[in-house]
Amino acid sequence: MEFDLLNEPVMQVFLYAALTAVTTGLGAIPFFFIKDISPSLLGKSNAAASGLMLAASFSLIWEGYNVGEWMTISGMLTGVVLVVLANRWMEGRSDVKVTDLVGGKRKQMLMFLGIMTVHSFAEGVSVGVSFANTMEFGIFIAIAIAVHNIPEGLAISLVMVPQGTSPLKAVWWSIFSSLPQPLMAIPAFLFVEVFKQYLPFGLGLAAGAMIWMVFADLIPQALEKCEPKKIGLWVTLAILAMSAFQILISY
Ligand SMILES: [Zn+2]
Repeated sequence: MEFDLLNEPVMQVFLYAALTAVTTGLGAIPFFFIKDISPSLLGKSNAAASGLMLAASFSLIWEGYNVGEWMTISGMLTGVVLVVLANRWMEGRSDVKVTDLVGGKRKQMLMFLGIMTVHSFAEGVSVGVSFANTMEFGIFIAIAIAVHNIPEGLAISLVMVPQGTSPLKAVWWSIFSSLPQPLMAIPAFLFVEVFKQYLPFGLGLAAGAMIWMVFADLIPQALEKCEPKKIGLWVTLAILAMSAFQILISY
């Protein structure tokens, strides 16, 4: 019998999960065509990123509830405590060289990237768990997450590019934020029972941290550049777009 590496289940899980990481980079593409970024665009960008993140947070919570409600809630509590502590730690340091790393000015950008990366761990686990169910179901979930990652890459770029990060770097950091997906999918696929148990905790943790970030950082920043009415409009439009998008990919 011939050994075909590409058709091994573990390899398939890895390839599909790697695809989800690559598609995140697609979210940065609009910024290759936008040449000058005005302060009001920065405000609207932050508002749109907030809407995308809020919608994503509540779908993480919903997904967590399907497996374990209290586990999701305790994850959220842990997420918000961790993000507050991380923020306090970061504000006390003057030696964080953000500009060299991401090409933008604000320290909070690192935290934003950190949160997006952490939430990918949880999503990588759900990809792996889905593949352990059946291969067909795994492929379905991997494609759904790959598509859902495009607006998340857009959210990352909306935050980073107006601050001075180049579109190319935004592509890279978007993909980077999703690298935990292929990495976590494999152990979750192999040890599904263990990972499934803690999945709601991870989903809740990501949601708690994301919601905090929206109101503690993104919205106040948007308010510096843009009228509250416009921010309300852009947040709502982004939530609406993300929700419509999720309905479309669930068919
Ligand atoms: Zn996500």
